[in-house]
Amino acid sequence: MTRFDGSCQCGAVRFEFEGDPKWIAHCHCADCRRATGAAVSTYVGVELENVRFPAGAPSTYSSSEGVTRSFCADCGSPIAYQGERWPSEIHFFVGLFERAADLVPQGQVYEAERLPWLHIVMEGSGKKTG
Ligand SMILES: [Zn+2]
Ligand SMILES: [Zn+2]
Repeated sequence: MTRFDGSCQCGAVRFEFEGDPKWIAHCHCADCRRATGAAVSTYVGVELENVRFPAGAPSTYSSSEGVTRSFCADCGSPIAYQGERWPSEIHFFVGLFERAADLVPQGQVYEAERLPWLHIVMEGSGKKTG
């Protein structure tokens, strides 16, 4: 079975799951931009029941109605997004994973909010967006 491990920058928050992610996608929305400070947020959607936090759960912040964002209280790394719209899922930031190179995004959301100078080539499509 496939296994994925991730951690924040300082290592205080660690997580792992077995199996394949449900989906991997870039989000271009302004909310995610502010939450991370990055031009785009790439998420790995995982069934919450498959996830373990061996060192304890990360700190959380409610960024809007029904949305919980988690982060490391020690180093500040953003960890994940959880929304009431997807109650069984947790959406981790791809950059936290040891094997991030193996987690290839398949799609993009909120493209209308994409920064106009950001162009992403989707693996396999050979097509540039925007
Ligand atoms: Zn940390
Ligand atoms: Zn977003």
